[in-house]
Amino acid sequence: MSEKMGILRRVAGYGILSCAAMQLFAGAAFSQVPSPESVLGFHVGEDRKLADWGQVVDYFSKVAAASPDRVVMKELGKSTLGKPFVALTISSADNLRNLDHYLEIQRRLADPRLTTEQEAEQFIKDGKAVVLMTCTVHSTEVASTQTAMQFVYKLLSEDTPEHREILNNVIFLLIPSLNPDGQDLVVKWYRKYVGTPYEGAEPVEIYHPYVGHDDNRDWYMFTQVESQLTVNKVQNVWHPEVVYDVHQMGPGEARLFVPPFLDPVDPNIDPLITSETNWLGTSMAQALAADGKKGVAVNAVYDEWTPARHYQVYHAGLRVLTESASAQLASPIRVSVSQLDSHALGYNPQQRSWNFPDPWLGGEWHLGDIVSYQLVAYESCLLTVARNRDAFLKSFYRLGANALKPPKGYPFAYIFPIEQKDPAAAAKLLNTLRIGLVEVYRAQAPFTVDGIDYAAGAYVIPIAQPYGHYVKTLLERQHYPDDRQYPGGPPKRPYDVTAQTLPLLMGVKVAEIRNPFEAKLEKVETIPLPPGQISLSSKQYLLRPDSNNAYIAVNRLLKQGAEVSRLQSPLADGKQQYPAGTFVIRSGQVRDLAALGVDFATTSIALSDAKPLHSPRIAIYKSYVPSIDEGWTRWVMEQYEFPYTSVHDSDIRLGNLHSRFDVIVIPDEMEPAIFAGNRKRSTDSEGAAPSQGGGSERALIRQPSEPDEYTGGIGDAGVESLRQFVSSGGTLVALNRASEFAIDRLNLGARNVLQDVPPEKFYGPGSILSINVNANHPLGYGMESQSIAWFEQSPAFAPMFMQSSAPGARAVASYPSGNPLMAGWLLGDALIQNQAALMDAPLGNGHVVLFGFRPQYRGQSYATYKLFFNSLFYF
Ligand SMILES: [Zn+2]
Repeated sequence: MSEKMGILRRVAGYGILSCAAMQLFAGAAFSQVPSPESVLGFHVGEDRKLADWGQVVDYFSKVAAASPDRVVMKELGKSTLGKPFVALTISSADNLRNLDHYLEIQRRLADPRLTTEQEAEQFIKDGKAVVLMTCTVHSTEVASTQTAMQFVYKLLSEDTPEHREILNNVIFLLIPSLNPDGQDLVVKWYRKYVGTPYEGAEPVEIYHPYVGHDDNRDWYMFTQVESQLTVNKVQNVWHPEVVYDVHQMGPGEARLFVPPFLDPVDPNIDPLITSETNWLGTSMAQALAADGKKGVAVNAVYDEWTPARHYQVYHAGLRVLTESASAQLASPIRVSVSQLDSHALGYNPQQRSWNFPDPWLGGEWHLGDIVSYQLVAYESCLLTVARNRDAFLKSFYRLGANALKPPKGYPFAYIFPIEQKDPAAAAKLLNTLRIGLVEVYRAQAPFTVDGIDYAAGAYVIPIAQPYGHYVKTLLERQHYPDDRQYPGGPPKRPYDVTAQTLPLLMGVKVAEIRNPFEAKLEKVETIPLPPGQISLSSKQYLLRPDSNNAYIAVNRLLKQGAEVSRLQSPLADGKQQYPAGTFVIRSGQVRDLAALGVDFATTSIALSDAKPLHSPRIAIYKSYVPSIDEGWTRWVMEQYEFPYTSVHDSDIRLGNLHSRFDVIVIPDEMEPAIFAGNRKRSTDSEGAAPSQGGGSERALIRQPSEPDEYTGGIGDAGVESLRQFVSSGGTLVALNRASEFAIDRLNLGARNVLQDVPPEKFYGPGSILSINVNANHPLGYGMESQSIAWFEQSPAFAPMFMQSSAPGARAVASYPSGNPLMAGWLLGDALIQNQAALMDAPLGNGHVVLFGFRPQYRGQSYATYKLFFNSLFYF
């Protein structure tokens, strides 16, 4: 039976003649929506078939052209690499005609200050629920974008009562990929190796050009263009009641995870959000069970702690996450029961339990299986919202009203004083909060709170505002619960990091005010960065290293060929004090640089102590075992205008590095990945090419190996050429876990005191610690003597006795005596008290800089960028 006849027959079953006639008319329109296979040339979910981004956009344009009354597709902007970043709005023709009306209802319900209870009642009656679905933020989790095409086709072409309920009651916003660049990278890679022994292998580079897998951990910092487009052009415009973010997990897990989430839940999330998420998630699990889908888990693996992945739960919306078990990209796999992960958090995939009532006990697993589960999940999510439209709208209004009356124990406001060590970081923090729709006020007159005077121009953020929970979670210190597998046992691994206190991370002074106060305030849209002071008559300028932006200024000056040097010790010029590391500029155009918010001071003192600065020739090591930190490092360096060259294993092994580079950076990565890289394919039968038709013969969960040219790390030859590079005067900068590689391989007179310490004795999964910094050491220039370190599976160092007469490694930053934890979670703090967090290890004529933390963590740790930048000038 043709699709069209099927529709006509179903339509004929409905009610009175006039209604049936209308349905026939609608049915005719339905039949014109092109099917995915008619455009792509294959069925969605077919083994070894994936649409690339061009095909996906092409398909959705054809759908929008065929059904313009129910689908609108818009390009919101361009992705990082210039691809169209698109969103679709899908609803009934009636709803789309009145879209502005529904948008206005959402705006009014979102802010109860604009809307009385009576008005709200009417809006709840009249409004439509808004659901945003976002696909493939993680590009190797390939199915959701493919499923989205099939789902939209079904929704628009199959006239069922359920589809009509969805279209009538929901405004469905679809972002078919949050990362189009990655979508193309993965599909291109996959196609290249289909039918070879490497079919289904993971790509050898990160799939977002800068942030890889962290692209879904950018939802309060908004560093990347894709997060900015989504938040500015969809999330903040529509304020969706529900956001459904579609993911995949490993092949040995449940077939599908849906909420409820695991504990801990961030206490700043309104309890109503948690209850509704539990409700919507379990309704989806029920729909999957009713459809006969086995292996669905709830309340497992995924917690609801960090706002990095959950923007909407602080903005009166639910976040539904589903995670499907993966195949090998689009290639099928076979899973045995014993390969199911019996140590999964919150459930055992091999056993029935209340939150995993119907285990899937192994067998073949195809892309098409993922698609078929997702089709049910997509529809049931939208249908539950459609059927409970008024309840979702009512809660949406209630959540806004709750936020205006903060719970007991909340502060009254946060104050950002004018005096900041790095004014650009303070402006950045405030403007970043503005992206999250936080209302920021500026004091028009001086005022006093708790005995402290604040000047006019200080910024104030009252907590009683629609997104006050968001303010609190980003500005306060986190206290992660001491969560163990059993009392006294090993820690339960959090799903992500445990802290996000932006004032600590960014080195910005903020006062938390408990009690109400009065001040003359004006609301501001953006926070300007006051330009720096400059006296253009001078021949010699002093530029303090306090602000990260000073390094942009210096990089621009070096690019001009200007003469720049750094003071090696503090300088007093009358009343003015200049710290060690102050930049001295003797030529070059400084006029435009004051816009960076940095002062160019003049002095008549003769400066004999300044050390000339050279534009560094920097290499960043790019492993074929992709490192997310490598991408972040490039991103931060580009923001601060440090030129760099990426180097691979073969470049390192080749040697003669000192003729090409002054500084080599090894981003955060484990030693085996750096030294040994990807494993080479074994020649036994298990590595053989999979058969093209039908099921794979392979036993699974054995990841196919990478093509030979991407295997092997830098090896012994690479270690030797790094040693020669440093010995000849180069600087090797090892970030976080890469410093363990440097210690192990280069004999540096330092050891990692945390080596081989088990997690029940020491654990730091992503927390903010305090450090003491030697600001008179060239690596510490511009730092306060007390600062922070982003500690994430990090080492900590102690110097080691050297037999030779060579100088040993010196600490530049150390953990204090006493517990260094400032925000997040840390077990076994005594082990790192007084130990080094940053070391300068001399080797021959050069240095190895050992970072025991991530100084440029996810583009957020502004407080410690300078330590990293200093290391790039340290040669
Ligand atoms: Zn994912």
